[in-house]
Amino acid sequence: MSDRWIKNNLESGEHSISNQWTHIVTQLREDIGEAAYQSWIKPIKVRKIDGGVAKLTVPTRFMRDWVIAHYVEKLSELWGQLNNEVKQVDVEVNADRTARSDPPKVESLQAIMEEPQSVASPTYGNILSAPLDPRFTFENFVVGKPNEFAYAAARRVSEADSLPFNPLFLYGGVGLGKTHLMHAIAQHIKNTAPKRAVIYMSAEKFMYRFIRALREKATVDFKEQFRSADTLMIDDVQFIAGKESTQEEFFHTFNALVDQGRQIVISADKSPSDLGMEERLVSRLNCGLVADIHATTFELRLGILQSKAEQLSAQVPQKVIEFLAHKITSNVRELEGGLNRVVAHAQLVGREISMEATHDVLHDLLRANDRRVTIDEIQKRVAEHFNIRISDMHSARRARSVARPRQVAMYLSKQLTARSLPEIGRKFGGRDHTTVMHAIRKVDELRDADPGFGEDVELLRRMLES
Ligand code: ADP
Ligand code: MG
Repeated sequence: MSDRWIKNNLESGEHSISNQWTHIVTQLREDIGEAAYQSWIKPIKVRKIDGGVAKLTVPTRFMRDWVIAHYVEKLSELWGQLNNEVKQVDVEVNADRTARSDPPKVESLQAIMEEPQSVASPTYGNILSAPLDPRFTFENFVVGKPNEFAYAAARRVSEADSLPFNPLFLYGGVGLGKTHLMHAIAQHIKNTAPKRAVIYMSAEKFMYRFIRALREKATVDFKEQFRSADTLMIDDVQFIAGKESTQEEFFHTFNALVDQGRQIVISADKSPSDLGMEERLVSRLNCGLVADIHATTFELRLGILQSKAEQLSAQVPQKVIEFLAHKITSNVRELEGGLNRVVAHAQLVGREISMEATHDVLHDLLRANDRRVTIDEIQKRVAEHFNIRISDMHSARRARSVARPRQVAMYLSKQLTARSLPEIGRKFGGRDHTTVMHAIRKVDELRDADPGFGEDVELLRRMLES
């Protein structure tokens, strides 16, 4: 924009404010795309600039929160560039419109959901559904102890004609395969039962569409679209936790669909009880099958790396694979990212993958995963936790009350340090590496069999990592 433009438009007054605004949103629109613009920016009204603060209003509280969370920073930046008197952007709910534009009362949506059924059009769902990643199939999903239950549940849902359980609630930490499993369900259904309409979308998208429907008074269409789904899958539902009425309305929609016998699949990063949602919603979510995906084990990481290396048709030395599986323990996404980088680098420089190159390429990633915990620290913490003496970590006593904590300490030593099995054995009173191996296997087994024990180990791991 030219200096003259700014100058002409800085003679204050309503007119120039609205010109500034037009200019700002034109830029923002390019940045955020048409859909987001229509939903969140277009409804904004500019009131005034007062004492360095640009005052904007939006029709609803929800929109205010959203605009503040997502766009205010960018808006003030753009505004500051245009008019350096503006130091801050303020968003408020437009008082005189609040009554009309707040999301409708729950009854109204419920009423909508209960309207007589029309013939569902399967294509509707396909249009509505977010694109699916063709790589996210059951075939490409590596199954191990931490995810076998979730995997089995997902398969069951994708193969069943009737509803085996409703909803299926998948939960687990970031990058552990929730989205992958959901896409796999959707694609399996599409391949084997193309007539069944599947809608997959993120909770964020769902909410955004919902809000838009409310604003455009198109809730009937909205409802129709979702009623056309035989299987509705909503990813990352934690996104709408704590979003007050939106959350409430979402679950009324959800309930209505369940009542109509539609399969629902939901994912979240927490269990239903930990989502911080209302009790009755939690119990609704708990009604179906709740399947969690645990943190990866070394074996699973190995399996995943091997499978990904094959998919990339890359020759990755076993040593490098093991090294990555040891070092990148945070989640599968990072693990995959690490492997991709190593492979891409090798192809780029036209050399074979080596340990040395791996170290070089993944320098930063490895450092982030490098916890620098010592075995001594681990022994000390674990001994404290289980209330035994540190000397018992080295002693020959085999009573379970000391043997078990010792095994946990060995297990954590393997997980959290770069020490080899013989090195770890030596630190535990000169034990053999097979003893350490046995301990690791034992702890893995117990973690799966006994959730209380699993939590103990997890807690210790987190304590040691921090
Ligand atoms: P989440 O949704 O739980 O955050 P994603 O499903 O997006 O995680 O998974 C992150 C990445 O890790 C994806 O590329 C996915 O394909 C991959 N991934 C996760 N778990 C597995 C698995 N068991 N086997 C193969 N790939 C996996
Ligand atoms: Mg995901």
